[in-house]
Amino acid sequence: MTNTNEQTGGCLCGAVRYQTTGEMRDIVACHCRQCQKTSGHFVAATQVAIKDIQIQGSQALHWYPSSLTAKRAFCKECGSNLFWQKDTLQISIFAGTLDQPSGLSLTKHIFVADKADYYDLVDNLPKFDQFDI
Ligand SMILES: [Zn+2]
Ligand SMILES: [Zn+2]
Repeated sequence: MTNTNEQTGGCLCGAVRYQTTGEMRDIVACHCRQCQKTSGHFVAATQVAIKDIQIQGSQALHWYPSSLTAKRAFCKECGSNLFWQKDTLQISIFAGTLDQPSGLSLTKHIFVADKADYYDLVDNLPKFDQFDI
């Protein structure tokens, strides 16, 4: 299921807000070490085309280069993790920052091989050791 309606969201303090207008990918949960460290648990994210998102308060965002190929953005005021970006065409939006209802569903788990040991994945969704390929 994808949500093609306009969707809004933002950080905890409200310094960063965003609107999307295009198709949104369903939610993917990533259990890699970088997502564990930056989120405090694991990351659940949707993804949209860069052309389909407008960000207000982007001066409050700090983009951290979390790997050689990807960067993550958090709010400098409240620390909320908002975005992950690997190329210039798509941007991932951390699902917890979406205003409710999102109309989206969690559909898969990736980087399960790196999952922390203190929780189990008990749903029946597809699980991939790394990327979903
Ligand atoms: Zn904030
Ligand atoms: Zn990850």
